[in-house]
Amino acid sequence: MLRSPVETAALSRGIHRLKPQPESDVGVGAIFPSNYIFDLNRLYLHTDYLSARKQLNRECWASLISSGLSVIRSYCRGRNLVFALWLVTNGVTVAAAAPTADWSEPMQLLGRQIAPGTSSKFPFNPDRSFEASYVNIPVFVARGQAPGPTLCLTAGIHGDEINGVEVARRAFARVNPKELRGTLIVLPIINAEGFRSGNRYLPDRRDLNRAFPGSSGGSVARLIAHAIFTKVVSRCDALVDLHTASNQRTNLPQVRADLSDPAIRELAIHFGLGIVVGGSGPDGSLRGETANAGIPAIIYEAGEPFRFQEDEIERGLYGVENVMAYLEMTAQVDREIPDDRVYQHSRWIRTTAGKGGFFFPTAELGDFVRKGDSLGKIVDPLTDASIEVISPIAGEIVGMAVPQPVLSGYALFHLAWHDSE
Ligand SMILES: [Zn+2]
Repeated sequence: MLRSPVETAALSRGIHRLKPQPESDVGVGAIFPSNYIFDLNRLYLHTDYLSARKQLNRECWASLISSGLSVIRSYCRGRNLVFALWLVTNGVTVAAAAPTADWSEPMQLLGRQIAPGTSSKFPFNPDRSFEASYVNIPVFVARGQAPGPTLCLTAGIHGDEINGVEVARRAFARVNPKELRGTLIVLPIINAEGFRSGNRYLPDRRDLNRAFPGSSGGSVARLIAHAIFTKVVSRCDALVDLHTASNQRTNLPQVRADLSDPAIRELAIHFGLGIVVGGSGPDGSLRGETANAGIPAIIYEAGEPFRFQEDEIERGLYGVENVMAYLEMTAQVDREIPDDRVYQHSRWIRTTAGKGGFFFPTAELGDFVRKGDSLGKIVDPLTDASIEVISPIAGEIVGMAVPQPVLSGYALFHLAWHDSE
């Protein structure tokens, strides 16, 4: 079966690598022993080549996998060529040396052993130094009785976004490791300090979700990110990061995913509920950097911050269990988000400069609007002048601000639309 370079690259990075690969896949077997290629990404993460791997852009990787050395030069930039050559010259050796995991042996993670068919909860870092307490986040691991992929579920990276924390807790509580295939690793409260104090950020006011993949030096955010990234995320075959809308905003239930990557798109639509909004995520975000490291990653936005919302939690749980079914970790039937609920484009409509005031929306979440439609008004409380908020584009309202005083540039409506529109 012939696959396009992009497809093949996605397969090599993605969840499909766990499924049998046809013998005739172009190029792969020519460079690497075919049964090892699909573990190479993981090997890189265990070496010093993580940063080099990030520099290997997608086209380069795709051409390397699909066509071998002959076309690398036409695709790769100079800085990547060095890594591509390293990969070719060392890849076979590294791959061939990879130990074949024996599933009957206990799994090693963060100094713990988790036997097949069992689960465990323990602190990430048992150190007792002052700063270690910030990395002392809970870790839940369920090691399935049977081999399979590793799904990582993360939540609470923004300490005020608590619905996801409860989704992660319930998802883990409902897993029976005796019936599970593969491994579920849950980091339910990554920003534990922020969660305890109802704070989105770390105590030094940094956003942990801009610090990935982190480094072994620098701010506490980068230290935490580095520890999580190298010790846990590098072990994942797929990652679902649970968030909520930010303060004073509301969202349709939505998955955010880089739709240009087929493996990530597949993961996203198998959340099975809500809509998918395309986008690669900001630099330094857990989702973006995990995807850059070759591991399919998505975000799910579950309701509002600061409170537990039962409906949102149940929806998130449904989605996570769908993803597990898709990965064949459970025997459940999985569901897909239909194509017409997958949006390739989105943008925020903001308050016009100098036109802040009291915001009163008339359009609602889920409304389909046309270019030129009125979405609400902003009233200047000093002059009583009222300014209509006019939609500059057509689309569906997938997120919006609640009625409140707003200033110039404040994001009011999040509109999403399809490629064809
Ligand atoms: Zn968030």
